[in-house]
Amino acid sequence: MENVIILGTGCAGFTAAIYTARANLNPLILEGTQPGGQLTTTSEVENFPGFPEGIDGFELMDRLRKQAARFGARTEYDVIERVSFDPVSKTLFSSAREYSAKTVIICTGASPRLTGVPGENEMFGGKGVTTCATCDGAFYRDMDVVVVGGGDSACEEALFLTRFCSKISLIHRRDELRASKIMADRAIGSDKIEPVWNTVVEQVLADEDGRARGVAVKNLATEEAGEIRCKGVFVAIGHIPNTQPFEGILDLDDQGYLVPIENSAVHTKIPGVYAAGDCVDHKYRQAITAAGMGCQAAIEAERWLAC
Ligand code: NAP
Repeated sequence: MENVIILGTGCAGFTAAIYTARANLNPLILEGTQPGGQLTTTSEVENFPGFPEGIDGFELMDRLRKQAARFGARTEYDVIERVSFDPVSKTLFSSAREYSAKTVIICTGASPRLTGVPGENEMFGGKGVTTCATCDGAFYRDMDVVVVGGGDSACEEALFLTRFCSKISLIHRRDELRASKIMADRAIGSDKIEPVWNTVVEQVLADEDGRARGVAVKNLATEEAGEIRCKGVFVAIGHIPNTQPFEGILDLDDQGYLVPIENSAVHTKIPGVYAAGDCVDHKYRQAITAAGMGCQAAIEAERWLAC
């Protein structure tokens, strides 16, 4: 039986691994379908403390991986499909194997929802399509961009982009925003944000270098097709937390995020099972906050094992 199994290799998972490995707990990290997590899909990270010149997202995750390995954390590739948790032992099942652990730290992250239109995937992560204004907004200084979505995330992304971009077209499929009133009012009230109502993106258009040059759109009310020129396409239509294996075992909210117990950010309702990062946090969703939660979860696991 393992002392600690950590699920996921994003910022939360590797930070939990560094802490539990340094505590001599010999953690096993199970790396799922996106090694390194969401940061590996962004070009440069400029807001992770300690890197004044910024750092490539892939390199940052590679450094975290090496730091965890340096203290003896072991990494294996496997995708957990279901779990059985009780306070004493935790069993995790992949399609081929079964793992047992005294404690589990769930850092399975969330996957940004994408529209699935042609061109989106091809230009994702460095060629004009992104899901993170905080990470990538500064690369679009003085350029026109579009944000797709009508929720709080879309408004937040659009408002953040007003710091850099000349014009932000906020493309929403209906004629009113889903966002909270305060966020919607701020977005609509911004000189730089132009709402494009009742409209869906049908394709991301590429220039001769394979980078985004615009989007083909359709107005759902009039059926009219058109094009919006832009260098950046920020897709903000929600996230899908990677929590399917825990359905019916742990508390999930109506969007699928793990719900920690009261007065804790990382304790689940099962003693010895913790959650950190984007699978539980839908509010901050930053690399540094995920790392902080991974640290908290590791310290809690260490204390629980010491009892
Ligand atoms: P959300 O509230 O689910 O909004 C998603 C938006 O994307 C909706 O406007 C939806 O349109 C649109 N959408 C979904 N699928 C689409 C598709 N295939 N094509 C085009 N548009 C599509 O997600 P979110 O904005 O990420 O927010 C998630 C949660 O986090 C919410 O509870 C939110 O309040 C919270 N949050 C809060 C803040 C804040 O308070 N500062 C910031 C971010 C997030 P419809 O409206 O037509 O469904």
